[in-house]
Amino acid sequence: MTVGAVTPEATQAKTIRLDWPAGYDAAFKTGQFITCYWPDEPSHKRAYSLSSCALDRGFYEFTIRREGKMGTRLLDWIKPAQQLMVFPPTGRFLPVFEPHKHLICLAGGSGVAPFRGFAREAARRKVMTKLTILYSVRTPQDILFHDEFRQLERENPHFKFDVTCTRHDDGDHHWPGRHGRIDAAWVKRHISDAANTIVYACGPNTFVEFSEGLVFELGIPKEQMRTEKWG
Ligand SMILES: Cc1cc2nc3c(=O)[nH]c(=O)nc-3n(C[C@H](O)[C@H](O)[C@H](O)COP(=O)(O)OP(=O)(O)OC[C@H]3O[C@@H](n4cnc5c(N)ncnc54)[C@H](O)[C@@H]3O)c2cc1C
Repeated sequence: MTVGAVTPEATQAKTIRLDWPAGYDAAFKTGQFITCYWPDEPSHKRAYSLSSCALDRGFYEFTIRREGKMGTRLLDWIKPAQQLMVFPPTGRFLPVFEPHKHLICLAGGSGVAPFRGFAREAARRKVMTKLTILYSVRTPQDILFHDEFRQLERENPHFKFDVTCTRHDDGDHHWPGRHGRIDAAWVKRHISDAANTIVYACGPNTFVEFSEGLVFELGIPKEQMRTEKWG
């Protein structure tokens, strides 16, 4: 697929839009991931969660951070009109858009990427499902999709986007919101009906495993948790 656009996001992150070739039309679901490789390096394939949603047609978007060989090459070198090889979306990290459910999505750093797809689809389809993103970043400069999430909050009364910054103010980065890591007390404050809550966690294994510990601490059964481990 051809790179249609490369959009710098927060510090050390970019969103890459891959335009579908003529005649291509994929059936896929919000929350799935594609697998990409450079044409000159077919043995180095990596998975990327879609940060666009299934209602976005004609392109895929994914959001990368500077990490490892592929992450660094993509972040530093990819340009519009270049080509990437792409395996179609797959995966089971899917939003359960049932009216009485509450999806609580835990994310750290670029792990928020698939939740942008969740929030887009929820707003566009006007689903009644409650959707809450609890997002941990180091500083306010690291928040991905801040303006879009705030706009989606205005459009969707069932959607909430809450951020916590782990690094304390150093003068330059004043943050009027919450400080500290995601913890059980903070997650608990957002739960009103535990039996109908589904907790999602996405990002590096350490973050997802930490989130699994929180869910256990909160007494939420494992069956009510969905995870996407990035490695
Ligand atoms: C389902 C799924 C979805 C994903 N979605 C995304 C996404 O949306 N966005 C995203 O950014 N990533 C995502 N990832 C992660 C992504 O696939 C890659 O793992 C990531 O880009 C790193 O790949 P790489 O080839 O660049 O790293 P590699 O070069 O293979 O390195 C792997 C890890 O080892 C570390 N490492 C490499 N060399 C050294 C060294 N010499 N010493 C110490 N450490 C080293 C790297 O920092 C990296 O953390 C996803 C992964 C999965 C499984």
